[in-house]
Amino acid sequence: MTASLITVSYIAAAILFILSLGGLSSQETARRGNFYGILGMAIALIATAATPGVEGYAMLAGAIIPGVLIGGFLAQRVAMTSMPELVAILHSFVGLAAVLVGFASYLGPQPQLTAVEMTIHEVEIFVGIFVGAITFTGSIIAFAKLRGSLSGKPLMLPARHMLNLGMVVGSLVLGYMFIDAGHTVTDGGNPAGLMPLLIMTGIACVIGVHMVMAIGGADMPVVVSMLNSYSGWAAAAAGFMLSNDLLIITGALVGSSGAILSYIMCAAMNRSFISVILGGFGSDGGAPKGPAQVVEGEAVPTDVEAVVGYLKEANSIIIIPGYGMAVAQAQHSLSEIVKILRKEKKKVRFGIHPVAGRLPGHMNVLLAEANVPYDIVLEMDELNDDFPRTDIALVIGANDIVNPSALDDPNSPIAGMPVLECWKSGKTVVMKRSMGTGYAGVQNPLFFKDNTEMLFGDAKKNVDAMLAELRK
Ligand code: NDP
Repeated sequence: MTASLITVSYIAAAILFILSLGGLSSQETARRGNFYGILGMAIALIATAATPGVEGYAMLAGAIIPGVLIGGFLAQRVAMTSMPELVAILHSFVGLAAVLVGFASYLGPQPQLTAVEMTIHEVEIFVGIFVGAITFTGSIIAFAKLRGSLSGKPLMLPARHMLNLGMVVGSLVLGYMFIDAGHTVTDGGNPAGLMPLLIMTGIACVIGVHMVMAIGGADMPVVVSMLNSYSGWAAAAAGFMLSNDLLIITGALVGSSGAILSYIMCAAMNRSFISVILGGFGSDGGAPKGPAQVVEGEAVPTDVEAVVGYLKEANSIIIIPGYGMAVAQAQHSLSEIVKILRKEKKKVRFGIHPVAGRLPGHMNVLLAEANVPYDIVLEMDELNDDFPRTDIALVIGANDIVNPSALDDPNSPIAGMPVLECWKSGKTVVMKRSMGTGYAGVQNPLFFKDNTEMLFGDAKKNVDAMLAELRK
């Protein structure tokens, strides 16, 4: 390919990536957005492989073909509930790639550069490896937390602020030593900057682990989008090292959209961006100032027939899905129930909390998959004021997002997080398997309210039974 054709291909790919992000911002256009992204990436890969000077196609094929096969196989098999883990582990790959590109750039043949250009190149290498290493280990910890292999509780080391500060200052000093040493060769034959670079990589790996370990259960959604952002910046840094404009553009798009998403999630959860991002650095890290209120009372169990009776009598119904609906895969039968209720001219709407499930937009994807009309799927802010005018709220596998202690108990670990105020409706039915807590591990006083009833059991089984009862 000629240089101008490659430039045109890169511009086309960059435009497709921007159109892709635009498309992904709403459910109606998401498929189209996905298609633009695939097309842009295909153009980018072909153009990069066809760049003059790129050789070793056998090696390239040896990396790409198994990658495509493994990726395709895993993506086909992954359950919707495991999607957040998959996203987290994919971010770790981007981080690792940036680290490897950084070392290769440093140790490989050096381009002909002036002294100033060389310093800029070394800063790119250092920053790329630093961000890449944090992304790599941070994403692995996020993967383990989302999978449940590690506890969601925040790790609060006694001197954690000093530890973080020490590691950042240490990295800055190592950065100075690295740039100062440049490419002068030691007696051992290695470049003198290699040792500070290796030590900084180790420190950055520890920062990644510590940063995500220090973040508590309810703040994890911000971590997922924040690591998404970091992976973008790591890719952009790799783009600078490789002098690849498209990688810089793509990385910057991912980095900035991830940062905007993190900001939106923080605003939705009434959390401070800085305290979440820095894992308690210079803040209380979300630590309660006293013991959380003890939740006691007696929950009232109910059964399928009674709940169907309530639905038949109700005129306005709000359904609140949560992570348990995703686990049970109850969305398809639920969609059928909604169809029947709407045929009977009842006002049925879904209330979606910004952090419901385990991935931004998790519930929207499931409901779209079950063909629930978009216009009855509303954001929390759009219907929180409507609960007092609602006959029944049906909570399906949700817990933290409907926990009144977020508003009532300043010492609750989720204090300050806006929640769906379903207890203000005429009646609330909570469908879950037990009295167990949700992701944040917080007791829920909603279960003991006078107008709350509990429908215990697997959400899919109960929704199927309700559907059968409704069809009778
Ligand atoms: P929660 O995790 O708070 O609660 C889910 C509930 O579903 C559990 O209490 C569980 O209770 C129930 N459940 C599980 N399986 C089933 C089943 N088969 N049938 C019926 N019920 C079931 O989920 P929410 O959606 O309410 O809140 C999301 C939480 O996850 C928030 O704390 C959020 O911060 C966090 N998070 C969100 C992310 C995001 O991006 N959206 C990312 C990471 C974390 P039981 O065991 O009794 O059945």
